[in-house]
Amino acid sequence: MSDKNYLAWPFLEPRHAALEQALDAWATRHIVGVHAEDVDEACRHLVRQLGEGGWLRHAIGGTAHGGVSDSIDTRAVCLIRETLARHNGLADFAFAMQGLGSGAISLFGSEANRADYLPRVARGEAIAAFALSEPQAGSDVAAMQCTATLNGDHYVLNGEKTWISNGGIADFYVVFARTGEQPGARGISAFIVDADTPGLTIAERINVIAPHPLARLQFSDCCVPAGKRLGEAGQGFKVAMATLDVFRTSVAAAALGFARRALDEALQRATQRQMFGQVLADFQLTQAKLAEMATGIDTSALLTYRAAWQRDQGQKVTKEAAMAKLHATETAQQVIDAALQMFGGLGVVSGQTVETLYREIRALRIYEGATEVQQLIIARELLKEA
Ligand SMILES: Cc1cc2nc3c(=O)[nH]c(=O)nc-3n(C[C@H](O)[C@H](O)[C@H](O)COP(=O)(O)OP(=O)(O)OC[C@H]3O[C@@H](n4cnc5c(N)ncnc54)[C@H](O)[C@@H]3O)c2cc1C
Repeated sequence: MSDKNYLAWPFLEPRHAALEQALDAWATRHIVGVHAEDVDEACRHLVRQLGEGGWLRHAIGGTAHGGVSDSIDTRAVCLIRETLARHNGLADFAFAMQGLGSGAISLFGSEANRADYLPRVARGEAIAAFALSEPQAGSDVAAMQCTATLNGDHYVLNGEKTWISNGGIADFYVVFARTGEQPGARGISAFIVDADTPGLTIAERINVIAPHPLARLQFSDCCVPAGKRLGEAGQGFKVAMATLDVFRTSVAAAALGFARRALDEALQRATQRQMFGQVLADFQLTQAKLAEMATGIDTSALLTYRAAWQRDQGQKVTKEAAMAKLHATETAQQVIDAALQMFGGLGVVSGQTVETLYREIRALRIYEGATEVQQLIIARELLKEA
């Protein structure tokens, strides 16, 4: 089983270790198996379970609305994602999306919107989604074309969003659209759009290598009350970036969880698989691989919990979160690949844990800022400091 010494690192407090232990025990009891046949139903079920277990209270900010604390505890979110990812990728996804999908409400919502949405998100009764990307605006968010036009007391949304996690099962979407106060990134606003709002349709469901609910959304004269705007008009880019700032480090934590699980699997396999009169782990080539995997995992953990701790201290984490995401996701891919290799032919059999992990990790190097985008962020911050 995974080495838990990191729970005593100075970035974490005793309450964090207790949280990890309680969740690990809960997940062992409640989360069984890998991906279910019906991914929508599995996801709905996981959100309900996570709500009933009280874990989603960590995904929102505001004790008055069911949150554990007034501002989101990044280290708690990271530990929860790491632990869930170690058990089951879809459980991590379900938790992460409740946080990312409602993050802008926690951070920028009016009191009425916070009271309306956050308690339901925390109880697992409303499924959240975050709709930023478009077919022509992924890494280049500012190229967004979806528009929101103010008309009296409501906005009219027209356009498309794609790659929207929870698309098709979400109860509401936090949608970013161009309101045009200024060109580019300074002319975007954020809105809460309920899934049953006329004019919002699921144009396409998208199947990906690690199945989870994902869709392209279409907005056609979709009317949203002005009161559902999050933050000031024209400040949507800031809303999106602040939300991503909270959750980017947690993508690193999820990658860390996948990598830890892969190392556990590799250790188990290498110490059991007989070949050439000994076990796989007796070969120094295997030992070198295991050493590389463990070192990569510890480096990722150090970067992840440094960024999370720094954010919880109220410090800026742009560079540190980018480093954590870049390193943890790339390293996890290498660790999982090495683990799969140790399984030989068995490693590529559908449903094997290492095979599932191999598919689960891939998208993390792309979403919430691809690896290349993280490299640019780190370099930009370095050059600013210089
Ligand atoms: C499984 C999954 C779930 C997602 N969930 C959501 C969601 O819930 N909400 C949401 O809004 N979006 C979501 N996304 C979208 C995701 O954020 C985008 O896919 C991502 O931002 C990349 O955008 P793109 O796909 O348009 O790729 P592009 O922007 O076309 O980029 C393609 C590739 O170009 C490279 N690249 C990018 N910039 C540079 C550069 N400056 N220099 C050199 N190379 C570069 C990167 O390798 C990148 O992967 C999801 C994506 C996936 C795959």
